[in-house]
Formats: sequence, C-alpha cells, structure tokens
Amino acid sequence: EGLLPTLGASQQDHDDFERFTDIIDTYKSRKAFTIPMELSSRDDDLLRLDLISMSGFLKDRGLDSPALHWYVNYACRDDYGCNYNDVSAWAGIHYFASRDVEEGTVLTWPEGNGWIVKRLREKLATRITTGSLVFHVSHDYVDVYDVRERLSTRIRAEHVIFACPTYLAKHLMEKPPSVEEFEYAPWLVANLSLDSFPQQRAGVPIAWDNVIYDSGSLGYVVATHQRLNTYQPQTVFTYYYPLTGPSPAKERTRLLNTSWQVWVDFILADLAKPHPEIRGLARNIDIMRWGHAMIRPRPGFIWSEARRKAAEPLGNIYFAHSDLSGFSIFEEAQYRGVLAAERILKIRG
Ligand SMILES: Cc1cc2nc3c(=O)[nH]c(=O)nc-3n(C[C@H](O)[C@H](O)[C@H](O)COP(=O)(O)OP(=O)(O)OC[C@H]3O[C@@H](n4cnc5c(N)ncnc54)[C@H](O)[C@@H]3O)c2cc1C
Repeated sequence: EGLLPTLGASQQDHDDFERFTDIIDTYKSRKAFTIPMELSSRDDDLLRLDLISMSGFLKDRGLDSPALHWYVNYACRDDYGCNYNDVSAWAGIHYFASRDVEEGTVLTWPEGNGWIVKRLREKLATRITTGSLVFHVSHDYVDVYDVRERLSTRIRAEHVIFACPTYLAKHLMEKPPSVEEFEYAPWLVANLSLDSFPQQRAGVPIAWDNVIYDSGSLGYVVATHQRLNTYQPQTVFTYYYPLTGPSPAKERTRLLNTSWQVWVDFILADLAKPHPEIRGLARNIDIMRWGHAMIRPRPGFIWSEARRKAAEPLGNIYFAHSDLSGFSIFEEAQYRGVLAAERILKIRG
C-alpha cells in the first residue's frame, strides 16, 4: 500500500523522508509550483532549481537515503520518462509540490484518459476528421492526406492551431520555430492478456497500480481493476517501461531494433519477480513502441528561452502541444489548447 518503501526502512530512511516532506511542504506553502506551470512563481531562487538535476538537489541537501532516492527517481521516470539525473530539479519538485491531494484520492477511469477523449468526441463528432495526416503547414493553408481515400486536400485557413508534438514542425513547416532543444523520451507499453490473475503473495492483494522495487520498469496497471464483476478469471496487465538512458536517440534505436521476442522475455523476467508463474498465464502480449513519448524536462529546459520562444505563435500559427510546458501531463495539454483557442478568439473579436 502506498509508494514509499517502508518495509525494512532504516532510521536514516525515515529521517530523510521526513526532511524531504518538510522541504516540499515549504514549497507548497509558497504556492510556488502550479499547474499549469506558466502560472508558477518566477522567484530567482526557484528558477535556479531548473539549472541542477533532481539527484543533485537531494545530494546538495544531504539527503542520502537509498529508499528516498529510489522513490524520487521512480517519480521522475513515471511522470517524465527520465532518470532523475537527467531531470531538472524544478520539474522534479513540481511533481511533488504542485498537487495538494491526499494519497488514495486519485480519480481515474478504466480506460484512463481515453474516457475524456470519448466524452469530448461525443460533443464534437461533426467537426472531427480522423485518418488524416497533415503533411504541410503554412500561413495560408494546411495540406492533409486522407489515408483511407488516399487523397490529398488543401484546407485554406485564417488561423492554424498546431497541436502535434512541436518537434514535428521541422518536418511540416518551411520556416519552423527552433525545436533543437526539444528532447523526447521513448517508452515501451505492453498489454499482457492473462488467462487468470497471478497468486496473491505476502498477504497483499494486487492493486490497480503495482510497482516493482528496483526494476527499470514502472511496474503494471491492472486494466480490469475497476470492473465490478465479482468473478473475473481473465485479465489484462498494462506494463510500462520508459527507456531512460542518457541519450534518447540511442534509446529510440534500441526500442526500434529490439525484436518482439526479446522484449517479451525481458518483460516476463521482470514480472516474474513478484509473479513467478506469469509466463504460464500469458496468452497474448501486444507491444507498443512510442519513439517520442514524452518531452524530457532536462536541466535548463523548463525556463529556457528556447521553450519560451517555441510557445509563442508564428504569425497566425498557434502552437498548442503539451511539450511546450516542458513536461507531458494532460492538464498542460488542456491549458495549451485553451490558450491557443482564446488567443485566436480574441483576435477574431
Ligand atoms: C505511456 C504514456 C503514459 C502516459 N500517462 C499519462 C497519465 O497517466 N496522465 C497524464 O496526464 N499524461 C500521461 N501521459 C502524457 C500524455 O501523452 C499527455 O498527457 C497527453 O497525451 C498530451 O496531449 P497532447 O494533446 O499535448 O498531445 P498528444 O496526445 O501527443 O496528441 C498529439 C496528436 O497529434 C497527432 N499527430 C501527430 N502528427 C500528426 C500529423 N502529421 N497529422 C495529424 N495529426 C498528427 C497525434 O496522432 C496525436 O493524436 C502519458 C504518455 C505516455 C506516452
């Protein structure tokens, strides 16, 4: 229960966790770290945090507990897809200090953000065109390829909202904003269809989100956890593995070049630590490779001129991807989209 590793924790672990919590509470009381991130405090002492790494921040404050380091690194890998050595301390602290929720009060749906997508789609069905690839964006028009009809169409536009990942601008625009500073973390996500649940061990029931201590993965989510059936033999585990090596380009190549079978063996070996019988239960394993899954909030990026400039409109083209916030969360995506729409509505009167 809970993410803090308390089993076998030493006195130093307890002391360091307490000191870390106090530090975070001080930032919370200043209301310095907000969602959306643009509304955060610009105090100098806080902006300077962007120049050091999250691991450096802990070391600078004499917080050495291995359990605390594991916990903070897990948080960075989970939300940013990066090792805490490569995460700006500003971003790392933002993860802990921007939310004021009690653990256990998280709201989620069985299909995750897919639920929000469905509800939005219900309202906007007549205005959405799917199966369409944008291949050119200019100040006067957007060229779109309909993959079903195999037909290209030119859409004349007075204003364009560019909500694709921002790095794509260099492939789609003649004069794109500079995106050289934008780095993205690759992720692997696997769905394991299981004939039955693994055994419960050590008296602990399988939770919705299950973490394996000291694993390179983030563990797994039980996709059927919120079903109300009292008897449910089969299930699906969704397994998350961010590739967090220091070079995202090399990690992308590794993700692409590693075969399905090698990934399957890797995943099953990892899951066999808590569930030795997993190999016999898995009927099917689907693997999704996300080359540019999340923007990397590496030291210096969040409050860089490069990020700030890329978030500005280029004439009548407004950028709106969550990566403009420096880290990938739904709330930032929503903020960027609304901001772009409001800017255009203001001009149109
Ligand atoms: C494995 C994983 C787990 C995550 N879990 C969470 C989570 O639990 N909570 C959370 O808040 N965030 C999570 N995120 C982050 C999540 O990606 C963002 O919160 C959210 O999707 C960002 O929305 P967005 O609209 O900015 O961008 P995106 O969701 O990336 O949307 C961009 C869209 O542009 C489209 N596109 C790209 N190129 C073209 C083109 N040429 N033509 C037409 N369309 C194009 C894409 O198909 C895509 O639909 C997760 C990310 C990953 C990878």
